[in-house]
Amino acid sequence: MSTETALRDQICLLARSLFERGLTHGSTGNISARTPDGGLLVSPTGTSFGRLDPARLGRFDAEGRLIGGDKPTKEMPLHTAFYDTRSTAGAVVHLHSCHSVALSMMPDADPDDFLPPLTPYGIMKLGRVKLLPFFLPGDPAMGEAVRGLAGKRSAVMLANHGPVVAGKDVEAACNAIEELEDTARLAMMLRGTNARGLTEDQVRAVVTKFDVEWDI
Ligand code: ZN
Repeated sequence: MSTETALRDQICLLARSLFERGLTHGSTGNISARTPDGGLLVSPTGTSFGRLDPARLGRFDAEGRLIGGDKPTKEMPLHTAFYDTRSTAGAVVHLHSCHSVALSMMPDADPDDFLPPLTPYGIMKLGRVKLLPFFLPGDPAMGEAVRGLAGKRSAVMLANHGPVVAGKDVEAACNAIEELEDTARLAMMLRGTNARGLTEDQVRAVVTKFDVEWDI
C-alpha cells in the first residue's frame, strides 16, 4: 500500500469518526492534507464527512494545480492560507461544530483569545485561538483574514460558522479541533456559574512546560 493510499484512507476514517460523533453535520466540514510529493488531498464540495470516498478526494500537485478527483471544497482559500503561512502545517480541518459556534456568538467573546483557559489540553493543543468576524460562506476574504495572521495561529474560529485548525498531520489537526470543540462545550456548560478556570500562573506554567506558541 502506498503512503498516499494510506493517507487517503486515514482522511476518510477520521472524517467519518468526527461525523458519527456529531462534530459536524449534513455536508458541512472540509479537510485537507499534504501528500508526500508536496501536493494536497482535499474533501470534495458538497460531500458528507460520513461518506467520503478515498478514491474521489480532490488532488492537487505541488504547484497547486487540480490533477484529479472531485471538485474540491469551496472553502479552499482557508486551507491554502494555512499551508502558505505555516510551514509546519501538514493538514487542515474545518467543522461546523455546535458548541464552538455557540460560543462565537457570546457578546463577551475575546477576538484575540477565543477559548477561556479551562483545561491544560486546550492550551497545549491550540495555543491562543483567534476569533475572526463573520464572512459569507465561500468568501475568499476568509482566507485573506487567515493570511493576515502571518502564520502565528494554528487555530481560528469563524464567527457564527465554525473552527478551522491546522496540524502537523491529519491526526494532530483532528485531535486539536476536537479539543477546541470540547473546551467550547465546557465554556458553554459553565456559563453563568462561578466555575474556576485556570489561573494566570497555571496557564503560564502549561505554556512554559509544553512550549506553547502563546505570546503572539
Ligand atoms: Zn464552513
